[in-house]
Amino acid sequence: AKALVTGANGYIAAWIIRTLLEQGYSVRGTVRSPAKGEHLTTLFAQYGGKFELSIVDDIMKDGAFDETIKGIDLVVHTASPFHFNVKVPDGASYCRVTCSLLTVCCRFDRARREGHTSILNSILKMKRVIVLASTACILQSGKSGKWDETSWNELSIQAVKENGVKASPVDAYRASKTLAEKAAWEFVEKHKGSLSWDLTTINPPSVWGPPIHEVPRVENLNASMLEFFNTVVKGTRSDAELASIGGGWVDIRDRIIVSGGPYYWQEIVDVANSIEPPPIAYIAKGKPGATKGKAYAIDYDTAKCNRILGIKFRSLQETVRDILVDFKRRGWA
Ligand code: NDP
Repeated sequence: AKALVTGANGYIAAWIIRTLLEQGYSVRGTVRSPAKGEHLTTLFAQYGGKFELSIVDDIMKDGAFDETIKGIDLVVHTASPFHFNVKVPDGASYCRVTCSLLTVCCRFDRARREGHTSILNSILKMKRVIVLASTACILQSGKSGKWDETSWNELSIQAVKENGVKASPVDAYRASKTLAEKAAWEFVEKHKGSLSWDLTTINPPSVWGPPIHEVPRVENLNASMLEFFNTVVKGTRSDAELASIGGGWVDIRDRIIVSGGPYYWQEIVDVANSIEPPPIAYIAKGKPGATKGKAYAIDYDTAKCNRILGIKFRSLQETVRDILVDFKRRGWA
């Protein structure tokens, strides 16, 4: 079977591609320019030509995927701007990119109307579409508790609607992810009966683990890994922040819907400091043990994940150790 992975040069996408290749899939990965694909070609050379690149310079362009989608059984859509440094926070443009899967969907509607059989056949050959969503689509910030898949992050959508370009970049990102996931489900609902494929959305919290994609400098890490680096290695958070900020996390190599567990940053720092021998010279300290036994502000119910997938997650200790060993190898810490 052949899989298409969008945003192939991203942190999570590179791990997804490696896993698919290991499982015997052929993979076509989209990147925005040939230069962005060079590292991947080297990284996946050992899989005997089963990995190929497809250059889609603007994934929002009408028909952008017409060629790329040919012969594909499985689509994994990961491309999305995952950073908060937009100059003018603009929920709408964030959203257009994240929703770009919909350009494929819109082609489906138009191809049917206008009789473009080759495009239609490509889309109809597909068996499954997986959208890399996020717990950002679920969690409503400011409210605490245990979250499950029945919840939608209406608060961020509302913030972007009310504040337009003045909305915070975090809300713009979260609204884009929520609207994109909703749009994907609405499309499937609308076309029930005429689609050959089903939709799966994966909603991870903070994804951590050693990167295998191209990261020339530590500043180029994606948002979740950069935060890990700045907090654990550099210690840029105050003791009060370490003891109060947290969420859910999962190791990238577990590629799984929900959460490996809840955390406070203080706990991550404590785990990092407990590793023997110390993987790097300096690790922030905070106030060791300050969050021991403290109830978590954010937690995720993993019952559905356990029921369907029955995966045993990696331990926090293993995730933290492997990231720090990798940072050291790269000369970052
Ligand atoms: P990365 O920043 O490493 O990768 C993002 C990918 O999206 C890159 O390939 C990037 O390409 C591409 N991309 C960004 N903007 C555009 C655009 N305008 N047009 C086309 N492609 C674009 O992020 P991650 O791997 O961490 O995240 C991937 C997905 O996973 C995202 O959808 C994110 O929302 C989701 N996610 C991530 C979590 C995490 O903790 N990392 C947690 C939950 C969800 P380019 O290099 O050309 O910019």
